[in-house]
Amino acid sequence: WHRSKSSLSDVKERTLIAIKPDGVQRRLVGQIIQRFEQRGFKLVGLKMLQASQDILSEHYCDLRTKPFYSSLLRYMSSGPLVVMVWEGHNVVQTSRTMVGSTNPAEAQAGTVRGDFSIHVSRNVIHASDSVEGAQKEIQLWFQSKDLLDWDCWDQTSTSEV
Ligand code: GDP
Ligand code: MG
Repeated sequence: WHRSKSSLSDVKERTLIAIKPDGVQRRLVGQIIQRFEQRGFKLVGLKMLQASQDILSEHYCDLRTKPFYSSLLRYMSSGPLVVMVWEGHNVVQTSRTMVGSTNPAEAQAGTVRGDFSIHVSRNVIHASDSVEGAQKEIQLWFQSKDLLDWDCWDQTSTSEV
């Protein structure tokens, strides 16, 4: 087949996933990445960083009136994060399902939160909650030059290799 010309309509869906400081401390990075790879999504951006208050207050601007807001920002800046962009069909909604309910007590077994956490204040992982939200979050955390548009070999015909 011929590689389709890129146009806005066939740009693949992307989402922002962040492993929170408790996930990094508990050495869950490998297992979490494995779940997204195994499901069939494509990693297009990855970095580890200690988040500033500025980026976190922008990231969580919708929650600034919540009583847990200041403790949330302290938690999220308490250690390094692993921030990623994953791409694929329906990746925003499927990632939310893979991550599980915000409150780990309500998260199904088999989800990241349901398998690895017990309390909402230490729930291991972030996933964007809508396609528009994902676009905003990806722009906040990544420069476009750091997102790689690469072809999976197993989805490319050998004549192109
Ligand atoms: P998410 O999209 O599932 O991460 O949930 P929200 O966007 O509603 O909240 C963002 C994050 O704030 C959650 O993942 C939790 O880390 C934290 N959070 C949400 N609700 C509570 C709460 O009631 N108490 C505390 N301590 N943290 C909360
Ligand atoms: Mg949210």
